[in-house]
Amino acid sequence: MASDAWQADRVRSATTTIFAEMSALALATQSINLGQGFPDTDGPDFMLDEARAAIAGGVNQYPPGRGIRPLREAIAEHARRHYGLSYDPDSEVLVTTGATEALAAAILAFVNPGEEVIALEPFYDSYAASIELAGGRRVGVGLLGPDFRLDHAELAAAFTDRTKALLINSPHNPTGVVLDRADLAEIARLAVRHDVLVICDEVYEHLVFDDAEHLPLAGFPGMRPRTVRISSAGKTFSATGWKIGWALGTPELINAVTAVKQFLTYVSGAPFQPAVARALNEGDEWVARSRAQLEDKRNRLAAGLRTVGLEPHIPRGTYFMSTDVRPLGYADGVEFCRDLPERCGVVAIPHQVFYDRVEAGRPYVRWAFCKADQVLDEAITRLGRLNEARDLALVDARGTTPRDVP
Ligand code: PMP
Ligand code: GLN
Repeated sequence: MASDAWQADRVRSATTTIFAEMSALALATQSINLGQGFPDTDGPDFMLDEARAAIAGGVNQYPPGRGIRPLREAIAEHARRHYGLSYDPDSEVLVTTGATEALAAAILAFVNPGEEVIALEPFYDSYAASIELAGGRRVGVGLLGPDFRLDHAELAAAFTDRTKALLINSPHNPTGVVLDRADLAEIARLAVRHDVLVICDEVYEHLVFDDAEHLPLAGFPGMRPRTVRISSAGKTFSATGWKIGWALGTPELINAVTAVKQFLTYVSGAPFQPAVARALNEGDEWVARSRAQLEDKRNRLAAGLRTVGLEPHIPRGTYFMSTDVRPLGYADGVEFCRDLPERCGVVAIPHQVFYDRVEAGRPYVRWAFCKADQVLDEAITRLGRLNEARDLALVDARGTTPRDVP
């Protein structure tokens, strides 16, 4: 039998992720990678030192399945300090291998084959894959361009008698939308009315700008008993490669997620756990500085993109910014992103891979701005070549210089 014929149906659509594909393309073409979302600077020194000390001190064997107690305490204390939410570190906190594992374990724990999961579309890629692994059906509710706003009527209409869970991501990847109090109150009202579970992906909880405020859904009326809150150290502390995440919820919900987690990875990275505990306990100032720097980077990239003829949708959270690429003569973001490395040495991510309604995402492209200022500047310089090429094409076509063009 041909080896691809052995593949199970439920993983047929799980090809290489767009992030891995685009990062490989960036390396192969020596392009600037504004595709995959990872920062090019490290997290706080004291956190890195703590991990080194843990390895040197012999913290290298299996930790407890739910995570070391100091980390579970730090996670619970963080939720109390920032949001006034209280979780018991022993029964209501689970440490996972990144938010990715927490999401997969929660979806596998709660979604039966044929049950529907309502998620904001565009969807982060692992949602679609995990819902498929569980045999569930995803139902998208659009955060669609050009303004990427949640349509409350569309959300209300998405519920059916097969709806099992809502999967909410705010701040939202890839749009950068931060759901506001009215959006969250409506989501909460509908979740209670239809008696569904809510899985809430809050990995960008601290990356919010301007006057945007991150409000956990678990804090809204009726939500605490039905919400699994998921986050991770990756974004908050610039340590995407450490893969330390967590899930919070009632003992019953966390028991169910733990039951799956223990057979996915059993436990998660021992020496990183004390380091993340320390970062959560002592890192608020570092996080505030990093947030302010990111806001500057957001503004820097936005200004740069405007100079090359791309009008960005200004994100109020995450480290991603989206643009419509039609002004540069492309109708399709995938085509644009495939051409970009060769044409000017920059990599971005096409939106449409995050949609079932591919048409809605077709002209949009996502740019990551969690990069050094000189990297962002160089990317803009390189993108400027697209316009030079277009001007030359005009010269060729009309035998005139662009300045002569009326
Ligand atoms: N959710 C969203 C919305 C993300 O953007 C990411 C990616 N970085 C994750 C989850 C995964 O987080 P982690 O790296 O902690 O697994
Ligand atoms: N979350 C990151 C992004 O959106 C990538 C993570 C991954 O590659 N799976 O770019």
